[in-house]
Amino acid sequence: MCIANSQQSDLVQKIVIYEDEAFMATHHLNPKERTLLGLVMIKTKRLVHDIGEMNELEAQLLGFLIKKISIALKALTKVSWTYCYCFTEEVRHVHTFVAERYEDLPKECVRLNIGDWRDAPTGDIKAVQEFSSKLRELLQVPQPRRIAFFQKSASSSMSSSGLRSFL
Ligand SMILES: [Zn+2]
Repeated sequence: MCIANSQQSDLVQKIVIYEDEAFMATHHLNPKERTLLGLVMIKTKRLVHDIGEMNELEAQLLGFLIKKISIALKALTKVSWTYCYCFTEEVRHVHTFVAERYEDLPKECVRLNIGDWRDAPTGDIKAVQEFSSKLRELLQVPQPRRIAFFQKSASSSMSSSGLRSFL
C-alpha cells in the first residue's frame, strides 16, 4: 500500500490524481481483484509518522486537499457526502483516506465496514484508471501559484499571504 517512496510504475502513475511538493494523492487500486471506486489516499511525501508531526504547511494543505477531493468525488458520482479517515496503523506514515459515502451503502457496512460491502461499485484496473483520470481533471490547481506558495514558504516559518494566494 505504501508507494510513496518506491519507484513509480506506469500503473501507479495512472492512478495519481494529484501531486505537488508535499503530497501525492492516488486512487486506491487492488491489482488482483476489483477495486472499490471512489476511495482516494492522500499521503505526505516526507515520511511523517503521525498527524501531529506534520509541519504547518502540510497540515494546512492537507485540509485543502481533503476538501478538494471530497468535492471532486461528489461531482463525479453524485454521492451526497464523503468519509475521511487516517489511522497510521499498518504503516507509520500519514495516509489520509477520502471515500465516497454511497447512498445505498447497507447499514451493516457503514463507517469502517465499508470494505465489507459486496455489491459496492467496483471496477477493474482500466476502470480505476479512467476514474482516476476524471478525478485528476477535476482537481487541477494552477501550477505557477502552487510553486510560488512553496518557494515563499520555505524561507519563512509560515506564510499566510502565500497560502491565501494559493487557495
Ligand atoms: Zn506511506
